[in-house]
Amino acid sequence: MSLRLPRVDRILDHPALASSPALRSIQKRYVNDALADLRRRALVGELSEAPEAEAIARAVARRLAEVMTPRPRALINATGVLLHTNLGRAPLSREAVAAMTAAAGTCELEFEVESGRRGSRLTWLRPLLAALLGAEDVHVVNNGAAALLLACTAVGRPGGVALSRGQMVEIGDGFRVAEMAAAGGAALWEIGSTNRTHVADYAAALAGELPGQSGPVAAILWVHLSNFSQAGFVHQPELAELAALGRARGVPLLADLGSGSLGGIPGEEPTVQEYLSQGADLVTCSGDKLLGGPQAGILAGSAALVGRCRRHPLARALRPDKTTAAALHATALAYARGQADTLPLRRMIGWSEDQLRARAEALAVRLGWPPGQVRASVATVGGGSLPGDTMASVALAVPTRDPSATAAALRQVGVVGRVHAGELLLDLRTVAPEEDEALIAAVRDV
Ligand SMILES: *Cc1c(COP(=O)(O)O)cnc(C)c1O
Repeated sequence: MSLRLPRVDRILDHPALASSPALRSIQKRYVNDALADLRRRALVGELSEAPEAEAIARAVARRLAEVMTPRPRALINATGVLLHTNLGRAPLSREAVAAMTAAAGTCELEFEVESGRRGSRLTWLRPLLAALLGAEDVHVVNNGAAALLLACTAVGRPGGVALSRGQMVEIGDGFRVAEMAAAGGAALWEIGSTNRTHVADYAAALAGELPGQSGPVAAILWVHLSNFSQAGFVHQPELAELAALGRARGVPLLADLGSGSLGGIPGEEPTVQEYLSQGADLVTCSGDKLLGGPQAGILAGSAALVGRCRRHPLARALRPDKTTAAALHATALAYARGQADTLPLRRMIGWSEDQLRARAEALAVRLGWPPGQVRASVATVGGGSLPGDTMASVALAVPTRDPSATAAALRQVGVVGRVHAGELLLDLRTVAPEEDEALIAAVRDV
């Protein structure tokens, strides 16, 4: 059935839309979309009567107000997941934010202040990161996936890379390490089986003996099992064994660490230094997961391989912008000064249970809650770390009869909690003490 819908002009001229700050051309696009949606709904029988121009104008004004709000909005992470992938991963330090602000204007991104000549990008970042990670050289790209893609593309051709079926990790949102590694055109040779892969499987790939191979692989790829573990009848060679094999055949060993740690993060996460000292030639990792800095990808390893990556045409497409480079430098500085404990992510990890409990009790009193609303909780590292990487924590249980509805209302005022065992929990490990006032205001609001 077709409806007689109001004309576009009539909707656009309605006072409900007149106050919208959006350009007329944008308003028109939204009105047209709204009308198309009404026609579609009429066609499938969901709508029998045409709405008034005013109703459509109001709906469009609401939608426009939504898209014209500055985004992303800041939120308080009370989920207890430290590196929350959906909430912006690592919160940046004040110094990192200041560095980003300074870089936002005109800055020495590719300029030598001394000579006044063109300089190369990141010369002020590379030596510091290289020293910190114990690598000959370092290259920086815009995220961990980009680092993996660049390494496999620049180093993994022409023969492709060999990857154990036991390390074919999916990191989230449907993205698979094996597919990202091959996305630049390097062939990916799957070796071994899901549960067991042997040195001999790698040796066969290095000798060009796999079915379909026309020559040896150009690199071995090792992927850290960051978000799952295997148990039972399993075998995977040690990284050092593969390094020895690769060295004997002149084939480099690439290791994708993903998250890893610089020490200080609980669990058994390996570090870039460990991977390099065990013989990896090039280690790729995520700058924010590893350092608690901005989203970035880091390639650390031999000068020759890092150089190949830096000169590859893809490097230009994957390079980080000036604000990322600035925040990464400020974050690396905190480590270099031995002050990494002041970084927001490391501070979250550092609170003792007693400190968290004292804060929780004080907050509950200030909120005027009945006694007994403080709970023992479990925080997780998140960001694709091992499922077992958890820490004891303390949470406030919001007194409410409908935890899901209250959780939704709290989200509207900028606080994301966690519903667990029929209670709405606000985990304090992931809330900075500076956010306590805002947390109280939001809870009172609801
Ligand atoms: C997270 C992760 C990546 C990707 O890093 P991003 O910075 O998210 O692009 C790659 N490999 C592993 C093993 C990871 O855990």
